[in-house]
Amino acid sequence: MIHSLMEKMGVAKELYQGGDLVVTTPIDGSEIGRLTTASSSDVETAIANAEKAFQAWKSVPAPRRGELVRLFGDQLRQHKEALGELVTWECGKILQEGLGEVQEMIDICDLAVGQSRQLFGLTIASERPGHHMRESWHPLGPIGLITAFNFPVAPWAWNSALALVCGNSLLWKPSEKTPLTALACQALLERAIEEFGDEAPEHLSQVIIGERAAGEQLVNDARVALISATGSTRMGREVGPQVAARFGRSILELGGNNAMILAPSADLDMATRAILFSAVGTAGQRCTTLRRLVVHESIKDEILARLKKSYSAISIGNPLEGNLVGPLIDHQAFDAMQSVLAKAREQGAKVFGGNRVEFANSGEGYYVEPAIVEVTEQNELVKHETFAPILYVLTYKELDEAIATNNDVPQGLSSCIFTTDVREAETFISAVGSDCGIANVNIGPSGAEIGGAFGGEKETGGGRESGSDVWKSYMRRQTNTVNYSRELPLAQGIKFD
Ligand code: NAD
Repeated sequence: MIHSLMEKMGVAKELYQGGDLVVTTPIDGSEIGRLTTASSSDVETAIANAEKAFQAWKSVPAPRRGELVRLFGDQLRQHKEALGELVTWECGKILQEGLGEVQEMIDICDLAVGQSRQLFGLTIASERPGHHMRESWHPLGPIGLITAFNFPVAPWAWNSALALVCGNSLLWKPSEKTPLTALACQALLERAIEEFGDEAPEHLSQVIIGERAAGEQLVNDARVALISATGSTRMGREVGPQVAARFGRSILELGGNNAMILAPSADLDMATRAILFSAVGTAGQRCTTLRRLVVHESIKDEILARLKKSYSAISIGNPLEGNLVGPLIDHQAFDAMQSVLAKAREQGAKVFGGNRVEFANSGEGYYVEPAIVEVTEQNELVKHETFAPILYVLTYKELDEAIATNNDVPQGLSSCIFTTDVREAETFISAVGSDCGIANVNIGPSGAEIGGAFGGEKETGGGRESGSDVWKSYMRRQTNTVNYSRELPLAQGIKFD
């Protein structure tokens, strides 16, 4: 199956058959590819090539660069099913979500194509007669992309579609757990480049297969102008200071610990559906997964009864076969979940679900019942992001207390409130409300659209990707003052003669 998908997308067999990096599918643990990892000198060559490609690409007019991204979007449209299915094989998310991830790639291509004609600066009033000031935005340099296993393709596309129209070259170090999808994306981009023609330089986009060390080499090389890294807070804690030490730029998209406040006036039918999608979808392996439900004490019993009923009915199994919950990425993820649930029990929490699910042909796949854990306080266990479907349930009496609970974790990615009280809703998204990068009303915390800026505060890293004015992160700002008079007045009225 993998071969026919790879063939459709134009990936040569020798790229994934016979190498040192063994790739397995979380569906049943079987091997699906072997790739050759890049040596340190391969990475060095790739960076040098990316620098050359940047020098050529930056002088291609931006709307022409947009045309390349338009062609790439066409490739993605034509191969949405194949790439979506490969995402499912490699990271285990259900096919609907695999296809959704590819749709996000298509959406960001559309956005970037339009943006390629809108890389605008400001015109600023000058205090001096016969002068004008303006701001220009110029291409930045080679962009290093480091990505996580759970969204193997979309975050790469969020960055690269914009980075390409902004005039930059790309170096992508995908997760060592999901390198096949990276090869497929690269093959589709290469097809678009071929169609686009000679204006696109060689090595405009390169994939570096490897583990942490390959990423570190990009992080520490001053020729890589921007490092955009998606992954755990542990990774960001290492990457951020290293890039800063060489005065490079970084976009960090790290762990989340997302809450929903469920107010007494909430529409509980809607809230139940939203909780289900955001807490158990992707088997709890989204950065925006709902991990904490902060429910008003008056409706705790009712929502718990509804949730337990819905959780019991959910289909867990092969993600290619129409189930709603697929596997965890690997046995380490399963062990981490079990150890957290054991600690929660020791601390006196009530745990619902959480057991391993095995079925015919599940093999070495680690499937679990999503868990609901009733706790009495937000302790260190709850404040930690466990990358598995564990939903902690806490109660509140007053809205201020619920907002304080929402904010009292190290992470600051996503958050939401379910309420029909406009005062509560507006307070939650005001300056005294949620401290997260994303704050929603009557929508769960996951499943963002491409038009907004995506990212979070505190230990989530502060980065933003996708829409709004995020394109500016991939360009350098230049302030221009032009004197069209015959005098040379100095600013601030300084006399120097
Ligand atoms: P991870 O941190 O283990 O690995 C992510 C990537 O970083 C991999 O490519 C890895 O090889 C690389 N890496 C690790 N250490 C590095 C280092 N010191 N220098 C350079 N590269 C290094 O994360 P994961 O397990 O693949 O992904 C799950 C995590 O990612 C979760 O914490 C999740 O919340 C987070 N995530 C965040 C977002 C977001 O947008 N905020 C999106 C997806 C995933």
